[in-house]
Amino acid sequence: MTISSSSGNSSRRKKVTPLDVKRPQEMAREPGTSFLRELRLRISSLSQTTLELEQIVQYFFDEVQSAVLVEGLTYAHPSFGVDLQYGSLEKHRASYRLNTQQQYFGEITFSRRKRFNETELARLESLLDLFIYPVRNGLQYREALRSAMTDPLTGVGNRLAMNNALDREIELARRYGRPLTVLMLDIDKFKAINDIYGHAKGDDVLCTVAEYIEQSMRSVDAVFRLGGEEFLIVLSDTSLAQAVIIGERIRQSIEVSHQGSASEPHVTASIGISEFAPNMSADDLIKRADRAMYCAKEKGRNKIECAPA
Ligand code: GH3
Ligand code: MG
Ligand code: MG
Repeated sequence: MTISSSSGNSSRRKKVTPLDVKRPQEMAREPGTSFLRELRLRISSLSQTTLELEQIVQYFFDEVQSAVLVEGLTYAHPSFGVDLQYGSLEKHRASYRLNTQQQYFGEITFSRRKRFNETELARLESLLDLFIYPVRNGLQYREALRSAMTDPLTGVGNRLAMNNALDREIELARRYGRPLTVLMLDIDKFKAINDIYGHAKGDDVLCTVAEYIEQSMRSVDAVFRLGGEEFLIVLSDTSLAQAVIIGERIRQSIEVSHQGSASEPHVTASIGISEFAPNMSADDLIKRADRAMYCAKEKGRNKIECAPA
């Protein structure tokens, strides 16, 4: 355990394993035990009602209040991209690394304006085993959802992720009257790339094309692999004219970065663009982009075409 303090601020960091936590028999010898036992039961049954991390952390924050006054709670696990905060982040803090024997499950920080005393810290620590296992389950659930929606080859979203994202974007576009466009991108003569350079090189091309698409988009845009050598790019809050500029940037970046040589294929892509109108379903929007993409193929490939308004 390490404790450090400076200029009235207190911060405390500790590694917690479930073995650190007092067993109920030990707690039975302490004052207020029946209250704490009930609290443990309440936290544990609440945490079993959900696999959503946000909710697990919220429940813990709410319930912990009845044992120790805590004004802010943060829970972070950078490699899962999790950084949650409840209440306000105050200057006196106690942080705990959450570990089981095998694995690290992130870091929790309690904070408040007044310094925590030793009894309060011991009480908070005694409740952490009720946090670590629900959090582990929440992280596993999040990971399972993520991998169910990810294309394993390129790492971009798959068709399931696209359906979810597009439904959400259409809902927002309808509600706020904001423009929305989609780009259907298909790699040109990809079968020949496989035939000439081999399937493994074809896979490399799929990965680099996905990377170049991502590099040409804004962070709010999303790309999905629909299968084979087809990608759908969803540009929220983007008009047709703006989408043409982005599409052109993508088309050029693919061509420029795959100029071709004896060992490397020359790669180009055709792109069809469709702008959302309130009477369209997600399916209509995709089909229109698909038809525009086939027009680009017919006009010689390595081109952009827009669906008629
Ligand atoms: P076009 O310009 O008209 O789009 O021609 P194309 O050759 O790209 O189109 P076609 O649909 O005939 O061929 C697509 C090829 O993509 C056929 C299939 O073997 C290949 N393919 C599909 N999925 C994968 C994959 O995951 N990896 C690799 N290497 N090839 C794939
Ligand atoms: Mg295709
Ligand atoms: Mg193709």
